[in-house]
Amino acid sequence: MKRVLVTGGAGSIGSYVCEYLIKAGHQVTALDNASPYKVEHLFESDRFRFVQDSILGQEVVERLVDQSDIVIHLAAIADPKRYVTEPLNVLNVNLKGSLIILDRCARGGKKFVFASTSEVMGRNPNVPWKEDADRVLGPPNINRWCYSTGKALIEHYCYAYGQQENLPFVIMRFFNVYGPRCDDLGQGRVIPIFLEKFLHGDDVVVHGDGKQTRCFTYIEDATDAVVKLSLDDAALGSCFNIGANLETSILELAKAMKEAGGFDNNLVFKPHAEVFGKSYEDIPRRIPDVSHIKDVIGWEATTPLDQGLKQTIDFYRKPKA
Ligand code: UDP
Repeated sequence: MKRVLVTGGAGSIGSYVCEYLIKAGHQVTALDNASPYKVEHLFESDRFRFVQDSILGQEVVERLVDQSDIVIHLAAIADPKRYVTEPLNVLNVNLKGSLIILDRCARGGKKFVFASTSEVMGRNPNVPWKEDADRVLGPPNINRWCYSTGKALIEHYCYAYGQQENLPFVIMRFFNVYGPRCDDLGQGRVIPIFLEKFLHGDDVVVHGDGKQTRCFTYIEDATDAVVKLSLDDAALGSCFNIGANLETSILELAKAMKEAGGFDNNLVFKPHAEVFGKSYEDIPRRIPDVSHIKDVIGWEATTPLDQGLKQTIDFYRKPKA
């Protein structure tokens, strides 16, 4: 039995990670500044504790890290619109918050499992990306890159603390995770945004020509990877892509959601700049090479896109209790 601190534990991935860890017999503390509604069903377990606070609160964070064996650090501002509208908050939370946790983990020799992102690869055109491929990020006067730059920097800190302070760490790079409990409808990323339009009978807005691609990764597959990487010492000191293999264009995604939900909304196209402002640059193709994670822990995504979309749509269709 491990004592695991999950920062961002009330978030979409975090809530699943807490649930899986509790089911596996571990003791879990979720730290999150958001409302715990996604983890309320875990309150009945005596191996679950929820602390509502910011990762910028040094005293609380240090106390919780000291009480843990493993820290799974998922807390971050990860909403693309906010990279442009509140870059300072994005940098403060994602960098300063991570450093407080990282530093305390290094001092106590606690395992630090870091949620990085496929965004750190930026616009590198040579897909699929292995973990050690070059990052191609944009310039600093374009705020859109503040999120990926912050995440990339914390990846460097992991290796630096690992080398100089013997920090045990694992880096995870997520590729477009989706599913039930992922964001509120209409918020955050493309699937909940599309779904709100589908459910309300509105036009679904595809940015650009819709040919840009992503590998959509079902949340339960991603959670399985997080839990295995966190508990298996074979993963220590390394970075792992967590992503599905199927490359899907945004137009194909919209059509697949239409089909999965039996919707008949119109799909309309709008230039990306009209929605996000001129400075936002979309990534044309984002595809992981997942051979490393398969070799080390035997993981690969197994949920077909149509099934995952159906489960997601069913979840959001159900009236909330
Ligand atoms: N997108 C879209 N319509 C929307 C929201 C997003 O066409 O209403 C596109 C977006 O331009 C991008 C893709 O969907 O090409 C995925 O966007 P998301 O915000 O989910 O995150 P990203 O993968 O770009 O980090």
